[in-house]
Amino acid sequence: MKHSCQNCSKPIPLTKVFCSKDCKEAFFQKIAISIPKPFVKRLYFFCSEEEKEKEIFNFAKRHNWNKKIVKEKIEEAYNLYYECA
Ligand SMILES: [Zn+2]
Repeated sequence: MKHSCQNCSKPIPLTKVFCSKDCKEAFFQKIAISIPKPFVKRLYFFCSEEEKEKEIFNFAKRHNWNKKIVKEKIEEAYNLYYECA
């Protein structure tokens, strides 16, 4: 197996786990971030696109999380809760 960054899968030296500090942060944020189901429901069923953006922004800001990662997690959560149900 090739040794690669735990976050983005870029090949890296054996002594490293992540290719960059950003990747390390992103990886641990992805684990730490949890998206409440009612929040996902509200975003997808009761918000306009504009409201959705705003809600996600506030949510990320409140927890001091990266908005891009929060968005990914929300999409993941939505797929998990509503698409595959
Ligand atoms: Zn990486």
